[in-house]
Amino acid sequence: MNYKIFNTFGIEAHAERIVGFADAVDLRASREAFGGTWGVIGAGSNIVLTKDFEGTLFHPTGLAVEPLQNDRVRVQAGVIWDDFVAWSVARGLWGAENLSHIPGTVGAAPVQNIGAYGAEAASIVESVEAYDPVSDKVLTFSNKACEFGYRDSIFKRQLMVILTVTFKLGTTPNPRLDYGDLRKHAGGGSLKEIRDAVIAIRRSKLPDPEEQGSAGSFFKNPIVCDAHAAGLRAKYPDMPLYDAAPGLKKLAAGWLIDRAGWKGRALGRAGVHPGQALVLVNLGGATGADVMALASAIQKDVHEQFGVSIETEVNIW
Ligand code: FAD
Ligand code: NAP
Repeated sequence: MNYKIFNTFGIEAHAERIVGFADAVDLRASREAFGGTWGVIGAGSNIVLTKDFEGTLFHPTGLAVEPLQNDRVRVQAGVIWDDFVAWSVARGLWGAENLSHIPGTVGAAPVQNIGAYGAEAASIVESVEAYDPVSDKVLTFSNKACEFGYRDSIFKRQLMVILTVTFKLGTTPNPRLDYGDLRKHAGGGSLKEIRDAVIAIRRSKLPDPEEQGSAGSFFKNPIVCDAHAAGLRAKYPDMPLYDAAPGLKKLAAGWLIDRAGWKGRALGRAGVHPGQALVLVNLGGATGADVMALASAIQKDVHEQFGVSIETEVNIW
């Protein structure tokens, strides 16, 4: 039997089977029963499906949120990320509020080290518990062992099934408002005000996956050396530039795509969101091939105009 793979892009593709798991016992039993190729799918909000999945997809069903001490909490992979953020804000715990309204599951959050409004999951993840089907072991990764980077972690390179994530949150106020318009909208900077402001800004800019298919930002922001950035700035004085690391600058991929003339444009059934050029959208009935053709055309034009390569952030399946 074939199962339709749920994904927020709304692309049609199937898997041989999709099997729920709460813990390693479930995964072990599934591996014994089915063997073969496997993968993991959460809420499908960071994938582009270009073909059917010939194998078993594991989907997290565990929904426990287990406080360990007043500022530490262990959360099962199947919990919706934004439910966890709401939970932490309601208890006066700091650290996740800037990451409000990001779609997806808690189990996926460490995979690409989700980030927004100057915050990243890496700053609150204490450890990750994952099942490795190759060694048949449950492994615990400290924050350091997760090898977090910009939209990156060890879980992008080594296929494992994240079972739980333990977060260490803050009990003293630590508002982070120095990002874009956040300060303007976040009132006195309480936890609830920050969460509400982030949600309102996101709702005003980003497509609602219920209404239009997307996977959020399709590309990562490119990092270039200072000399390359200075050359570009001389040619494009309004180009946004941010310090990334000593000798390196981050460019805004959305700005590059906009200036390359792609904002709001379509190629077949896939298009570039008119409100945020970093987001590719399904205009209706798009296939993975339609989306990838648009992505390639954008990458080519950005490279030709700016000499900058933009890499995909989404997972191409
Ligand atoms: P999926 O899309 O199901 O999976 C993503 C990857 O993680 C896959 O490779 C999958 O195999 C793997 N994976 C999933 N669960 C597990 C698990 N339990 N164990 C091991 N591997 C697993 N991202 C940001 O960083 N910041 C944003 O602000 C942001 N905004 C977004 C806005 C919109 C409108 C959309 C559609 C997406 C946005 N995203 C953003 C991307 C996406 O929400 C995140 O990457 C999210 O963490 C994906 O969660 P998911 O459960 O949907 O993962
Ligand atoms: P924005 O605020 O219009 O900013 C545009 C770009 O400039 C972003 O890419 C951001 O980089 C960068 N930027 C802005 N202010 C910055 C600062 N003070 N320091 C460093 N970099 C800065 O972006 P937006 O589209 O409305 O998104 C708001 C936030 O939500 C961003 O953090 C974005 O990453 C996140 N988001 C992520 C996704 C996703 O799927 N990954 C989707 C939607 C929104 P950064 O991206 O590095 O922050």
